[in-house]
Amino acid sequence: MSRLFDTHCHLVDLSEDLKDQLTSHNTIQFLSVGTNPNDWQNTLKISDLYSSVHSAVGLHPWFVADNYLNDLSLLATILANASEIKAVGEIGLDFNKKYQAYYNEQLIAFEYQLKLANQLERPVSVHCYKAYNQALQLFKTIPSQGIMHGFMGGLELAKQFVKQGLYIGVNGIILNSNARRYHQMIKGIGLANLVLETDAPYGANLPSLFPFDVLPKIATQVATLLACSVEEVIDQTGYNASMILLKDS
Ligand SMILES: [Zn+2]
Repeated sequence: MSRLFDTHCHLVDLSEDLKDQLTSHNTIQFLSVGTNPNDWQNTLKISDLYSSVHSAVGLHPWFVADNYLNDLSLLATILANASEIKAVGEIGLDFNKKYQAYYNEQLIAFEYQLKLANQLERPVSVHCYKAYNQALQLFKTIPSQGIMHGFMGGLELAKQFVKQGLYIGVNGIILNSNARRYHQMIKGIGLANLVLETDAPYGANLPSLFPFDVLPKIATQVATLLACSVEEVIDQTGYNASMILLKDS
């Protein structure tokens, strides 16, 4: 049976109940991302605990603050000493006004982490909000592989990220029938450059009982948009995810 691959979730933030259910759902593989020094160790622990869970650690733009240089050097140490970490993430840029005080530090932190990922030959899991051009500029100077998670930038921008070696993460937004621009983007990019994600427990349209039940629904909607079978979507996105995240395993 094909295996779904959730390429972006925050398993450390799930309730204990839901964590217990992960073992019985061995039809899904997960990339659990860490966002700040307080969840990096727990992210590694959860991937030790469950064979279907892989880990990524990174300093998320929301957590770039006064202490960020120390956090980055701690991150570099963790990454250098844990070969089982599959990716650097969640990292990126968030130019929401709320984070204005640290725009410059965000750029420094993102560039630093892209370089780190490049040196360590690891892919990246990227959060980008209102900073697409800045992110593209960095990708043009620092060769990167990875995933644009929660990407909402539209088809033309998506194509530019794909050109730089990034895949597009498709989340529960696809289930909104009025998300026409999002649907156009998925259609224009096509299966070869898409992966699936929940962003659980924070993503859109997650069922409350078991949030990962959204994955087959996302796959079904991708299949409808691309006029192919659900199996094909699960196979190709799973293959893409494995090629990006598990190429050394
Ligand atoms: Zn996330």
